This record gives sequence, structure tokens and C-alpha cells, in this order.
Amino acid sequence: MSQYHTFTASDAVAYAQQFGGLDDPSELVSAQEVGDGNLNLVFKIFDAQGVSRIIVKQALPYVRCVGESWPLTLDRARLEAQTLVAHYQHSPQHTVHILHFDPALAVMVMEDLSDHRIWRGELIGNVYYPQAAGQLGEYLAQTLFHTSDFYLHPHEKKAQVAQFINPEMCEITEDLFFNDPYQIHERNNYPAELEEDVAALREDAQLKLAVAALKHRFFSQAEALLHGDSGSIFVAENSLKAIDAEFGYFGPIGFDVGTAIGNLLLNYCGLPGHLGIRDAAAAREQRLNDIQTLWHTFSERFQALATEKTRDAALACPGYASVFLKKVWRDAIGFCGTELIRRSVGLSHVADIDSIQDTAMRHECLRHAITLGKALIVIAERIDSVDELIARVRQYS
Ligand code: ADP
Ligand code: MG
Repeated sequence: MSQYHTFTASDAVAYAQQFGGLDDPSELVSAQEVGDGNLNLVFKIFDAQGVSRIIVKQALPYVRCVGESWPLTLDRARLEAQTLVAHYQHSPQHTVHILHFDPALAVMVMEDLSDHRIWRGELIGNVYYPQAAGQLGEYLAQTLFHTSDFYLHPHEKKAQVAQFINPEMCEITEDLFFNDPYQIHERNNYPAELEEDVAALREDAQLKLAVAALKHRFFSQAEALLHGDSGSIFVAENSLKAIDAEFGYFGPIGFDVGTAIGNLLLNYCGLPGHLGIRDAAAAREQRLNDIQTLWHTFSERFQALATEKTRDAALACPGYASVFLKKVWRDAIGFCGTELIRRSVGLSHVADIDSIQDTAMRHECLRHAITLGKALIVIAERIDSVDELIARVRQYS
């Protein structure tokens, strides 16, 4: 195995020539680093016509957006690659294809998706992909069912749980989702005008009790191999691909489902800031429809897979899958609420709200996300259906 060193553009070209699987590797001639993310290097590898053909992604031994003062495990590249390989096995249509990875170099070579766009950016620009929500529901059902105890042999499941132990990346989620917004912390990031709203989070005992229960589930419930960051989604016409799974680990299924819904609701909250209040109304209805489609597709597909393919004799008991899906739903609402709050108050924000030009409007949208997030966390146990969730979202608009 090779020793870790940070790739230059020409290293990336040579690596893609070796591992990109092209019939004629000499077609690959140049590279450009395009990583706009917070953590890693991403090189696009071009042919002589200037067409991007292959992606080379390498982890750095620290958090890129902060610098060397925040070291971070290189093992995340292995975890990302192996999560995507496992998910590809169960949902090849909706998972980026990993062609090669090397844990020592913390590098992976993958399919180029330059014809796709980040879903979030498209939603902000009011470009609608009517299939995307259903495709995301399908991806979540396939990947989460086939890595759960419904499907895997108990020995295989335990081996996989061990393989995907991801303590450093989980710690980031544990801190950013469940700790920072509910205490005074230097990592928090919100405008002074929202101090009162944020202080109210710290003082809300009922809210903090519900957040404790969610964090506890995130710590301890190894239900399936999660993507762990279900906002990282590429779309194109009639296509959706999950990328960037370095937070992958065995956790509660409701986390992936809930953060996916949370990302749609963050967009919902930000829309008036991009489109104006009047034009936002129609786009908001689309987001609510997306949430409905996502949940229905996910739950119906998961239920069907459970009926057809459950291997465990006890879990195959008629009615059990639907009992379990009720638990997933309640978890999802809670985790969705924590996503809304951590993206408004914590370290890492989303462009859906942060890119709103008008300051007063931006603050209003942040306040909306906080209020909605808080309500969902507290009343999660009482929201029995997606229709009821939508009614609550309208109530807090
Ligand atoms: P990070 O882990 O640092 O957040 P991402 O995996 O999100 O990195 O990638 C950062 C950016 O690189 C993406 O927003 C996208 O623009 C580009 N990118 C990543 N993977 C691909 C791919 N397979 N095809 C095309 N572009 C990609
Ligand atoms: Mg990432």
C-alpha cells in the first residue's frame, strides 16, 4: 500500500489513468480541484477536449474549511467509499459509482456526475425535479432495508456494524446536532438579532429532554448503514444520485429519513427570501408534496421489501414491519427538527437560507426554521402521519 501524501493535480491525473477504468487511459490529460465542500479535495479529471471524465476525491488529515488546527481522521475516506459501495450494491441507480479506493492514500476514484447538479442549488433556483423526492425515498428504502436486521444474517450484520464504526465523524454529528445549539458554544453561528430565540432553546427543558432522547438513539441504535448526510444529493432530469457518504455508520433509520425531510423544510423556510412571499407559495406547496412523496415512497417500498425479503423469522411476523415504520417515522420527525435547528444556529448552515440577500428576510427565515424545528422535536410523538406533519408545518408558517 502507498503512503499518504496530499495529491497535486498531476498526481490525480496519474491516479485516474491507473484506476479510472478507461479503455485508453492516455485520454486523461489534466485535472482541476473543484472541492467546494468543507472537508476534502475533489479533482475533476479532463480529456484533451476539456470534458470531465472521472472524479478523484481525497481526504485531508484535517477539516478543510477550518485548517490544520482541527485534525480529522483519514479513515473517513475508507468509510465513505465503503458506504457508497454497499449502497450501490442495493441502489445502483441512485448511488454514485465508486471505481476504486485506497485507504492508505485516503483517496477514491469515482464516476463523473458533472451532468448532475446539487439538488439544494436547484431548489434554491426554483428548478423543479418532479421525480427527485420519490427517487430519494427509493434510495433510502433500498439501502436501509438491505443493511438492516430484516435482511442481513445476524453474523453479517454484526460484522458490518464493526466495519462501519465511525467514531470521529459521528462525534461531529453528535456535537453539531445535539449539543451545540442547546448550549453556549463558540462553534455556534447565528446573528445577534436572534439571541433571544436561541437563548430560548437553551432554557427549554422539555425540548432538551427530547433532544437527549434523539441523541441517545443516534448513539446506540444500529438499525442500518446510514448515509449520514442526506443533504448531499445530485440530480439531473429523471436522475438522482447520493454522493459524499463520509458520515456513514450503523445508526437509526429515522436519522437519514428525517434529515432528508429536514433539508426540504429548510428550503421551504428559505423560499420567501429567494422568490418573494407571493411566488414562494407555489414552490412551498411543491416542497410539501415532495415530503409526502418521499415518505410514502420510502415507507411503501420498505414495507414491500420487508414482506418479500425479510429473512429473520421473528422480524417476519406479520405486522411487525409496519410497527417498526411507525418508530422510524417518529424518529424522523425528531431528527428533522434537530436538522432545522442545527442549520440555523450551529456551525454549518445551508445556502437555502444563508444566501438570502435581504438581512431582515434572512433573519425571519432563520427564525421560522428554529420555531418549526423546536415544535417538531417536542411534538414528534404526536404526529402520526405525513398529512399531520404538513398540517403542523402550515400552522408554524
Ligand atoms: P466534501 O466531502 O468535501 O463535502 P463533496 O463530496 O460534497 O465533498 O464534493 C464537493 C463538490 O465536488 C461537490 O459539490 C461537486 O461540485 C463536486 N463533486 C463531488 N463528487 C462529484 C462527482 N462524482 N461528479 C461531479 N462532481 C462531483
Ligand atoms: Mg462531505
